[in-house]
Amino acid sequence: METNTCRICGSNKLMKGLKITDFGHGNVKKDLSIYIPTTDRAFFNKFERGTINAQVCGSCGNMELSIANFRELWEAYNK
Ligand SMILES: [Zn+2]
Repeated sequence: METNTCRICGSNKLMKGLKITDFGHGNVKKDLSIYIPTTDRAFFNKFERGTINAQVCGSCGNMELSIANFRELWEAYNK
């Protein structure tokens, strides 16, 4: 799926491996991620987390998202 040209405009000005960051109180940075709980307890639940990687086109602004540890997320999703 990873390509060197933009799927929309064909430009090669791609910015890869970017993180989608939320600036919280006091500009505390938090990378957005996918969260899948794998246990259903009241406390200390186990979970699988996948940080979202973004690729942005520097010509048209198209953005595509991907996850590095998609296999682990798929396993957690099926539990
Ligand atoms: Zn583009």
